[in-house]
This record gives sequence, C-alpha cells and structure tokens, in this order.
Amino acid sequence: MKVTEHLLRADKTLLSFEILPPLKGKSVKNIYDVLDPLMEFKPAFINVTYHRSEYIYKKRGDERFDKVFIRKRPGTVGICAAIQFKYKIDSVAHIICGGFTKEETEDALIDLSYLGIDNVLLLRGDASKNERDFIPEAGGHSHAVDLVRQVVDMNHGKYLEEDSIQGNKTDFNIGVAGYPEKHFESPNLKSDLKHLKQKVDAGADYIVTQMFFDNAKYFSFVERCRAEGIHVPIIPGIKPITAASQVHSIPRTFHVDIPEALIDAVEQASDADAVRKAGVAWCIEQSRELVQKGAPCIHYYTMGNVEAMRAIVREVF
Ligand code: FAD
Repeated sequence: MKVTEHLLRADKTLLSFEILPPLKGKSVKNIYDVLDPLMEFKPAFINVTYHRSEYIYKKRGDERFDKVFIRKRPGTVGICAAIQFKYKIDSVAHIICGGFTKEETEDALIDLSYLGIDNVLLLRGDASKNERDFIPEAGGHSHAVDLVRQVVDMNHGKYLEEDSIQGNKTDFNIGVAGYPEKHFESPNLKSDLKHLKQKVDAGADYIVTQMFFDNAKYFSFVERCRAEGIHVPIIPGIKPITAASQVHSIPRTFHVDIPEALIDAVEQASDADAVRKAGVAWCIEQSRELVQKGAPCIHYYTMGNVEAMRAIVREVF
C-alpha cells in the first residue's frame, strides 16, 4: 500500500522507522536484528536509506595511487524487497541524485517496480565527502525536483528513450524531504519553501522532515508550508539523543539546533546510561505532543538504536 493511502485510512497517528543498509560485507541479518524487536509496534512502513559511493585513493605497488570508488552501504533495493517479503510491511526506498546518471536511476526504479515496491523517497543527496559542494553526476540530476519529474514521467509511462514513450506506467508514491530549520544551503526559509513547493507541484505526494528537537519548529514549518500553498501531508521525522557527543555531532551533520533544556539534561546526566535516558525522555515528550496535536505519522530515525526506539514507542503508541 502507498504511504499516502496509509495516512488517509488512519484514524490516529501512525509510526514508521528509517533504517540504514548494513556496511558492505555484513549480512541482511543485521537488518533483521534491528527490525525484529520493532515489529510488535506495527510500523505502517519502513524506509531504507541510499548511500552514494565515495572515492578513495589506493596506493599501488609502484608508489602511485589509483582512484577507487567504494559504496560502503549498498543494497537498498534488496533490503526493501527483503522487508516486504519477510514482514509483509511496505518499504520505502530512498533514491538519490548524487553519484547516479538518469539511466542508472531509471534502472533502479524499474527494479523496484518489478519487486512491487511502490514507495520512494526522492532526495538530492549530500556532497561527496571529498567535495565541498554537491556536484551532480555527468548525466545525472542536480536537484530532487528533477528526480521527482523523472519518476512522474515513469508513472505516465514515459521512459528516458523517446521510442519507449508508451511504456508501462509505474505507480510510485513519492515522498520528498523538508527542513523545519531550512536546508543549510538555502539563504532563508522562504527560498527553501519555494523549492519545496516546486517538488510538490512536480508531483510529490508527501513530505518527511529533517529531524528536529523542538516541536515548535515543526508546527511553525507546517503553518508556513500551508501559507505557501503546500498542502500534502508533512510527516515529522525525529530521533533521540543517545550519546553525549551527539549534542555536537548532530548540529554539525544535520544543521539543526538542540534546545537549551535538552543540552542541560544531557550535561547533568551522570553517565552514558543517564544520557541515554534523558534523550529517550525528551523524545517521548516530543512524540506525545506530536500525537496529541494530530501529526499524521511519526517517522523515527532509528540509526540502529533498537532499545531506545522500543523504550520510546512503547510509551507513546
Ligand atoms: P533538494 O530538494 O534538491 O534541495 C537541496 C538544496 O537546493 C536546498 O537548499 C533547496 O532549497 C535548493 N534547491 C532545490 N531545488 C532547487 C532549484 N531548482 N534551484 C536552486 N536551488 C534549489 N541523503 C542521502 O544521501 N541518502 C538518504 O537516504 C537520505 N535520506 C534522507 C531522508 C530525509 C527524510 C531527509 C530530510 C534527508 C535525507 N538525506 C539523505 C539527506 C539529503 O540528501 C540532504 O539533506 C541533501 O543535502 C538535500 O536533499 P534534498 O532532497 O532536500 O535536496
């Protein structure tokens, strides 16, 4: 079933989880170890992230270096299929622009469609680790909106080669990312919302937000979106702080603020376990308020924190 159908049919706030594919060389069992303990909470859908390849320089025998591409976390399409097969729960495959040509993207979408995976979250992706700015692949997309247009074309039976214009119509339900604290490259929220609206006008069915730790930011983001004419569901994405170091690493990586009261709670915690408890307690309060105020679904960035997730979801749902 499509994400938006889940939302339409629900008479209460749903929940969903987001997981990362395991590191290359690990088994799909790593995914099951994360998901098995979460299945009792009946998530409406499970998202699987996509990771671009990075290049590294490998020393050769003759003292020179080869530029080698490695993808540390391959397997998104396979994991999505495994989830639907094993748990009979809808999976949402993330598809990114970075590192992919349009043709490679089309092939991945065809695989997803054959596998009965009709939910995609379409993203630009971040800059490669070796580069300061996002540089699209030659023959790839520059922004998520271009990816939305490609998927909408396929939903109309239009593939990349002109002679296959009458192709099979895929049936993808399309999610895109939104940023309550604005995307870090945007000069201001208004400009970011203009681009978010472009994604929705191009055919996105719903939005999932970047994580936030202050619900007021989500509520005011939803209001601003509505005022700008964005009327699709906006799913809040949240995650608990589970280690003291995250109060520094999360703002650096995700460009979001940590509220003073949460910093205080983490700083006052006497050990690692107390930090985790403070982070979980904060996330429970955030979740409760989101449910109470009618959020359509809460999307949890699990990041492998199974026990913290269980503690939160048990209290809220
Ligand atoms: P875009 O919508 O393309 O926006 C990027 C920036 O460009 C914004 O500042 C926007 O305002 C601006 N912009 C947009 N369109 C235009 C335009 N036409 N002209 C000029 N400027 C424009 N990353 C991964 O690599 N893999 C994942 O699986 C993944 N999952 C994610 C899931 C969620 C819910 C979220 C919130 C993020 C995820 N990311 C993932 C991170 C995401 O790829 C980055 O945040 C990335 O920097 C932006 O992606 P986007 O899709 O929002 O890009």
